[in-house]
Amino acid sequence: MSKDNDWYEVIKQKDYLYIIREHLDEIDPRFLTIYTNIYLILGHDKALLIDTGSGIFPIKPLINELIENRELFVINTHSHFDHRGSNNEFETIYIHDNEVRVASLPFDISMLKDSPKEIVNRYSAIGFVYQPSDNIEPLHDGDRFELGDISVEVIDTPGHSIGSISLLTSKGELFTGDTAHYGTMYLPKRKEFHIILKSISRLKELCDADIVQEIYPSHEQCPVGRELLDDLYEGISNIDNIWDTKKRNKFLEAWIIEDDNFKYII
Ligand SMILES: [Zn+2]
Repeated sequence: MSKDNDWYEVIKQKDYLYIIREHLDEIDPRFLTIYTNIYLILGHDKALLIDTGSGIFPIKPLINELIENRELFVINTHSHFDHRGSNNEFETIYIHDNEVRVASLPFDISMLKDSPKEIVNRYSAIGFVYQPSDNIEPLHDGDRFELGDISVEVIDTPGHSIGSISLLTSKGELFTGDTAHYGTMYLPKRKEFHIILKSISRLKELCDADIVQEIYPSHEQCPVGRELLDDLYEGISNIDNIWDTKKRNKFLEAWIIEDDNFKYII
């Protein structure tokens, strides 16, 4: 495991965009995911942090260094543990209205008690519980964050969770959270597939209208093109046809089905 000063891999993607990566597979390989991508957008006046990661090491010192004197907004794409671990380092967190309640409560991460020893040692120190931020502010579809020369719009994309959002910048970057990424996709129950399919359709329409130039998902490779959305829409639509190939995963307490592009957890 890396030390705290090299745990986060910082990639300056553009003058105004940093990718901050951490290895989710080092926290627990049983999630079948290699990377979590945290993003930092630097506007002329203000900055926006998209997710706070696993909380295994403090992230705020790194963010403070990168934003210089800018005011900072912090958003969670949703409330799952790998996106909210460092929330309590920040005074205010924005999250979709549907997940304000869960983000306001301490969050149990005892499922990580069988993680590698160094990870268990660090999480033992906080009793395997994430403490929430003091202020949790609700987001709604269409909300905007004005950063100066860049604005960022909230897009409701439920499915992975009831309050999953995507974020679209005025420069054409689309941050999809866990609504769409390559690798292992955590889906809702089969009877709720229509919800995530509708969300993916909405994002595809933004690509059709040439509003989206690049896609930055919260896990695995980034940036990617619109083919991610096409592949995922087609893949989820086809799951019924390959349902017989499913295998049970004990740790995740779910079915796994694979096609050429994705592992689906259902
Ligand atoms: Zn995730």
